[in-house]
Amino acid sequence: MTKKKITVIGSINMDIVTSTNILPKMGETVLGKAFHTIPGGKGANQAVAAARLGADVSMIGCVGKDTFGKELKQHLNNLGIDVQNVEPVTETSTGTATITVFDGDNSIIVVPGANYHVTPVYIERLEKMIAESDVVLLQLEIPLETVEKAVEIASKHHATIILNPAPIQLLSKELLSKIDYITPNEHEQEMLLTSSDWTDEERKEIIKKCIVTKGAKGVSILKGNERQIPSFNVDVVDTTGAGDTFNGALAYCLSIGYELEEACHFANAAAALSVTKFGAQGGMPTLQEVEEFLQ
Ligand code: ATP
Repeated sequence: MTKKKITVIGSINMDIVTSTNILPKMGETVLGKAFHTIPGGKGANQAVAAARLGADVSMIGCVGKDTFGKELKQHLNNLGIDVQNVEPVTETSTGTATITVFDGDNSIIVVPGANYHVTPVYIERLEKMIAESDVVLLQLEIPLETVEKAVEIASKHHATIILNPAPIQLLSKELLSKIDYITPNEHEQEMLLTSSDWTDEERKEIIKKCIVTKGAKGVSILKGNERQIPSFNVDVVDTTGAGDTFNGALAYCLSIGYELEEACHFANAAAALSVTKFGAQGGMPTLQEVEEFLQ
């Protein structure tokens, strides 16, 4: 099978995780238990998921000109992802998610920082690169107008476009009509289809593009006759990044010419393996691991 080119246009974050037994009140200082920095951001996560499977992946995004930015760009590069168009910007910091883990629960503050410097103008300058892509994979952690510009360019050049609509927001008919596959989870699907003034006909058209991820239940393909592609029964350790693994694996499968059902079956397997390990990127399987699992 010929290896085709996947371009991921999206967010790159550092997750800053502090575990504590005591939650400080405003103005109070306490001693915490543990601290970790973990590469994240839906864009980077999905790029890593595809790259771990051996896909030819390029990333388009922005980081800050700070230590996190340098570290994250190097990290993606080490995984074989083309980072020529991951641009360090001076105006702001690298995107972060500051996560406090307390009593089995967490609270999160996201600062998009450099991710909001992925502008339509920046994307326009990369038209040639997007034109050479077979699959373009997007999420919604960069400005919506950038996603719209990227989709406009990718569709002009006949790339297969996958949109993971997370975090969910109001999306125009014009945008959705140009996308080949929309991959909401169940909650996002509900929001996607209720938060608009579409006619029934238009809604039907959008529904046909959806591949709905349903956690342990697997996925529903709504294109053509609705089909359920069941998931795999595994011992769950951490479901963080399951959706990102699914999307990266789906992009990989479509880039090498799998039929949609076969692609969803494979992506379900990759995502199931990812939930058996800790962390988003940390749990993403290699091609060999998925193939052995499927035997
Ligand atoms: P997240 O936000 O945690 O990354 P999500 O809400 O975007 O996830 P889900 O629908 O929860 O996405 O999961 C994505 C895919 O991961 C599922 O379609 C399935 O293939 C796989 N998956 C998730 N949870 C499980 C599980 N408990 N067992 C097996 N596979 C799972």
